[in-house]
Amino acid sequence: MNRKNKRIVVKVGTSTLTYDTGKINIRRINDLARVLSDLRNSGYEVILVSSGAIGVAMGKLGYSKKPTDTKVKQSLAAVGQCELMALYDRMFSEYHNTVAQILLTRSDIDIEKRKQHTKDTFNTLLEMGIIPIVNENDTVSVEEIEIGDNDSLSAIVAKVVEADLLVLFSDIDGLFDSDPRKNPDAHLISRVEDIETVKNTAGGAGSNVGTGGMVTKIEAAKIANSAGISMIIANGNNIDALYDLIEGKKVGTLFKAY
Ligand code: GLU
Repeated sequence: MNRKNKRIVVKVGTSTLTYDTGKINIRRINDLARVLSDLRNSGYEVILVSSGAIGVAMGKLGYSKKPTDTKVKQSLAAVGQCELMALYDRMFSEYHNTVAQILLTRSDIDIEKRKQHTKDTFNTLLEMGIIPIVNENDTVSVEEIEIGDNDSLSAIVAKVVEADLLVLFSDIDGLFDSDPRKNPDAHLISRVEDIETVKNTAGGAGSNVGTGGMVTKIEAAKIANSAGISMIIANGNNIDALYDLIEGKKVGTLFKAY
């Protein structure tokens, strides 16, 4: 096994987990459960950071547009988080793996004592062979819903658990030198050595359900890289690419930490 990338944090966005119809992409969630369980079985330690609470609730309750009222978004998150975890629990069980839900707010990380408890819980779960699934605690974390994003959350988690690698699955192949939805000649940047040089190439969010986009992914890369953790952005339509990218094969955009 490639010991170098033993502990991996994988983040999936709402657009990876839901169809344009707003409904859950069951096949994608099954892919995630299968590949992450398989990696876990082969000795990797895997943590999943999953968005989608609000998106899944939108599909379930028939919202076609993300509501703007914070209370409504928080309530949707409460509905969707439950649905999402029920699904993960069932899918991972199919592959004989156990998952655990961890919901975090900024203060769980900013307050040293809470951060230590959080870290201890992650480590204990991983030692028990369990796959932690993380999201922001959206129902209490107001500022997260308004400006927060799971790209940064996943980088913070990677830092807290001292991960070896952070993988962000997105609805795009990686970072391009210009917006590929507008420019057909846009080129994928396969490796970023200096984040400062790509800051201005980041476009906005790809879909109307997620919170992030390239800007938040670059922020995540900064957090991860400064903690000595490499980060990869890859297309969530091929979860099996995880096998390749943890072996160091060229997939998506690598933000290399030194
Ligand atoms: N925590 C939000 C959710 O699960 C998503 C945040 C994000 O997509 O960055 O719905």
